[in-house]
Amino acid sequence: MKRRWKTFTYPPCEYGLQSEKIKEIIMSTIFEKIISGEIQADILYQDEICIVIRDIEPQAPVHFLVIPKKVIPRIGDALQEDQSSLGHLLLTAGKIAEQENLSSGYRVVINHGKNGGETVPHLHVHVLGGRQMRWPPG
Ligand code: AMP
Repeated sequence: MKRRWKTFTYPPCEYGLQSEKIKEIIMSTIFEKIISGEIQADILYQDEICIVIRDIEPQAPVHFLVIPKKVIPRIGDALQEDQSSLGHLLLTAGKIAEQENLSSGYRVVINHGKNGGETVPHLHVHVLGGRQMRWPPG
């Protein structure tokens, strides 16, 4: 009985999954839970393809995320069949930027993988504005 409990508690280790994969399984639920309504967020817009929320740790006076409702871990995992959805994310980013009065300029960012600065493995487009952006971004 004790052994069964241990197996249940640590299945990823017993199945030899890497810690990054374990993190991905856990973290991917944050945006999924926002999409399902299980976790609250400041929602600016949503339709059948995407949801737009304010970032919980804004890096600029305006910082929102455009998130596809379909689970795509990151941009490099997108498929040919996702082409129109990816276009929709960018068009939505522009529309919400206008709605947020960012006509004087804003930055659109997608972080891919560890070196790209990705922390949530569910594709999202950052839109930042309301201050002067610098280059290189760092
Ligand atoms: P990235 O580092 O590119 O994967 O971006 C993930 C972003 O998600 C970060 O800017 C976080 O601040 C943001 N974030 C994480 N959890 C939440 C949440 N519950 N609501 C809104 N934004 C979040």
